[in-house]
Amino acid sequence: MNSILDLEPKELWFYFNEICQIPHPSGKEEKIGKYLIDFAEKRGLDASMDKVGNVLIRKNASAGYESAPSLALQAHMDMVCEKNEGTLHDFEKDPIQPYIDGDWVKAKGTTLGADDGIGVATMLAILDSKTIKHPALECLITVDEERGLTGAQHVEKDWLKSNYLLNLDSEDDGRFCIGCAGGIDTIAFYSMKEMETPKDVLFIKLKVSGLLGGHSGDDINKGRGNAIKILSRFLWNEKKQYAIYLKQIQGGNLHNAIPREASAIIAIPFKDKENIRISLNQYIATIESEYPEEPQFSMDLESTDASSTVLNQEQTNSLINALYSCPHGVIDMSREIEGLPETSTNLASIKMPDETTIIISTSQRSSVESKKHNIKNKIEAIFMMSGAEKVTHSDGYPGWKPNLNSRIKDIVVKSYVNLFGKEPVVTAIHAGLECGLFSEKYPNLDMISIGPDIISNHSPAERCSIPSVARYWDHVIKILEDFK
Ligand SMILES: [Zn+2]
Repeated sequence: MNSILDLEPKELWFYFNEICQIPHPSGKEEKIGKYLIDFAEKRGLDASMDKVGNVLIRKNASAGYESAPSLALQAHMDMVCEKNEGTLHDFEKDPIQPYIDGDWVKAKGTTLGADDGIGVATMLAILDSKTIKHPALECLITVDEERGLTGAQHVEKDWLKSNYLLNLDSEDDGRFCIGCAGGIDTIAFYSMKEMETPKDVLFIKLKVSGLLGGHSGDDINKGRGNAIKILSRFLWNEKKQYAIYLKQIQGGNLHNAIPREASAIIAIPFKDKENIRISLNQYIATIESEYPEEPQFSMDLESTDASSTVLNQEQTNSLINALYSCPHGVIDMSREIEGLPETSTNLASIKMPDETTIIISTSQRSSVESKKHNIKNKIEAIFMMSGAEKVTHSDGYPGWKPNLNSRIKDIVVKSYVNLFGKEPVVTAIHAGLECGLFSEKYPNLDMISIGPDIISNHSPAERCSIPSVARYWDHVIKILEDFK
């Protein structure tokens, strides 16, 4: 067997192979969008495309399901485009080349796009079938999920008529998602207030490095160190003992990553040269004992070139106060789902992009909308109190609060137990999903997310488990059959 066209279920792999032939990078979905509309028209199905390119295909209920409530199936048509170094591949023109390796389907040198091509192929196989039993279906296929959920963000409020939605964008066989976190980013701007460097000072550079970092949602509850927090705590301790003047401070990069590195250039009185070394050694020991999960942590001190100006005492103090007091990490845990962070914030970066400005960024998440705003407002208050010129927030995206009384969850779980004789895991994630945006537009929409095993998605190592696709397909068919 060397072609994915020989795999079971044949109808699903056939459409997955079709999707691989059509370029579909995020933001460039015209070709796949046209394919989907043509597919529907050829089969006499009602299809429409909205102004951003999302596609909705409707299919009537099969015989015996006329009185069942209609069900929306949903997946995204775009894929992350990553290739191995040395792979010649133009994602806007060249087909993805899927191949079989043992129990896995992989792509030659590139991402496979099983995230979420499997979801789209599932819908096409169902829409094409004359034998599968199902209620009235609305198949919603969104654009540009991977770059920031923008397709889902633009879905019109009255487009979907169904009260139930089955999202096909999970990557874990037997693990279903019933909730996600919303997010919002905050940026504080400070104008630098400088003064002439005082006499008898020494310039030193402090650097925190070697931390694990990680995703600000998935990894926020793992007890990892934040380089900016570790650095600012040291500076705060030191400024209680002698005068410190900040010259430069920076750390972190992406808003959704926990900062792994941070550094500061400070001026301290010459006479405290030895004191800071002693305190640093003690401090390193403290951090090492507080963060056993960070074996690579290091913090170094070295002298550096003198500078004619530094931030004045007031601004030095207020910036260090702001960074030290700004919360980072889990703020509250979910009451509904054990072990799930509900509200969190990531102190993501501090930068000095030019000679005049200091910018601090944070990123908040919560599955409870009001709590997302509460933590973002608290952070704004801290920055305003410490002399920020202005604090702005992104538009953000809403969370999806888990509903343990969900009817679609009960159907999905029951059909899984009936098929496989074991209980699935029902959980929620502390990161964004398209379902969060749907829950804002359609407050009564009852949703759940499922999918087969897809590993290393968003990288050229992406692979999709063949046996799990077969189980997932049987499950989807059973859900449709049970949806009365
Ligand atoms: Zn996806």
